[in-house]
Amino acid sequence: MKCNICCGKAIENTDFCRNCLVRAVERRARKRLSKIGITGDCRVLVVNDDSCEGQVNAFLIKKLVTATKNIKHAKNLGKNSRYDFVSFADTADMAAERFLGLMLDSSLKRCQKHAIKLLRGSLSKEVAAYAKIKRIKYAKKNKLSDIALLLERLERYKGTKFALAKLSERVK
Ligand SMILES: [Zn+2]
Repeated sequence: MKCNICCGKAIENTDFCRNCLVRAVERRARKRLSKIGITGDCRVLVVNDDSCEGQVNAFLIKKLVTATKNIKHAKNLGKNSRYDFVSFADTADMAAERFLGLMLDSSLKRCQKHAIKLLRGSLSKEVAAYAKIKRIKYAKKNKLSDIALLLERLERYKGTKFALAKLSERVK
């Protein structure tokens, strides 16, 4: 497989070589961040469950969010309402999974307001490759849910996850 951008050798299961993958993940994160107005007095909570996505998200928040120093970390959201923004480690895969979950069970919780999702434009496998390149450590991955397994099968139709992830943002 060749890199979509420079035609170099792509990392297995992804569309990018090492350099272009790092740039793509960071460019998407910057793009999402630019749509959110974080100012100096903003209080940000970063939810990090020590998964690959959680650790990469925390890494990118540290790297890219320079406007405020008021950044705290927690394993889960809990009852924290003292924050202006909460950063979740959702990738396109996780957003697609949530969308399908909502279609099956409308009583599930909807997406949070004031959320920062730097990884939403990237696939979980791209985030895993990013973690490997940047030597980011994380705890072992949980077992895939039935919906996640279904999504893996649907990936033969490229772009399925991105399309479903996009739909998840329209669920109000
Ligand atoms: Zn490349």
